[in-house]
Amino acid sequence: MRYAVVADIHGNLEALQAVLDDVLRAGGCDGVLCLGDVVGYGPDPHECVNLLRKENHFCVAGNHDHAAIGLLGQEEFNPDAAVASRWTEEHLTAEDVDFLRVLPVIRVIDRFTLVHGSPREPVWEYITNTDAASGSLSFFKTPHCLVGHTHVPTVFRCEVGRPRCIAGRLGEGERLNLSGGRMIMNPGGVGQPRDGDPRAAYALLDLEEQSIRGHRVVYDVARTQEKMLRAGLPESLARRLSFGT
Ligand code: ZN
Repeated sequence: MRYAVVADIHGNLEALQAVLDDVLRAGGCDGVLCLGDVVGYGPDPHECVNLLRKENHFCVAGNHDHAAIGLLGQEEFNPDAAVASRWTEEHLTAEDVDFLRVLPVIRVIDRFTLVHGSPREPVWEYITNTDAASGSLSFFKTPHCLVGHTHVPTVFRCEVGRPRCIAGRLGEGERLNLSGGRMIMNPGGVGQPRDGDPRAAYALLDLEEQSIRGHRVVYDVARTQEKMLRAGLPESLARRLSFGT
């Protein structure tokens, strides 16, 4: 089995399409593991939900998914994110809302626990450092955990007997072996990368090989930005896509 692992699509259709095309070029996959924040920020929330629906997808909900359908208060967001969230809410169909509403916040696929934030606080907590990673270990039972939310490709290796996890990058083209110790992995952001690289980030998980590999894909950033500005979404949200911040 091979899975594409995607997170933080954020209504960016050009980025999601580029990732799915890239997966096909790499030989395709048996399913898409989607770690939340399908919508919010970007100009095509409906189209992204629709595209995912056509895949054999296994999704969990993110904070932006919940905010866009009223399961989380938009006042929790910074002003630009709140504007985008209200805009997203107005541009989802009833079917999109149903799709997002039934997403679990945590689920297990094979040897992996899937959450948006962390297994301790599935929707809100960011795993940005070894403290957060180490503190999360007792909250999932599978060997490995897949997370999103930070939009930064990262891997935390947590060896048995070692008190703390060790942080590393899930770099482009880097193949990591999944055997030996527990790991918390973040594929990075599809629709709004924040590691200084504007290309869409995702990962390919190969269960036969017991490996995960980081990937980056160029997409038409200018087209997404143009749509955002035309939709009246905050300019700063469009601008940041040029820089991957
Ligand atoms: Zn996000």
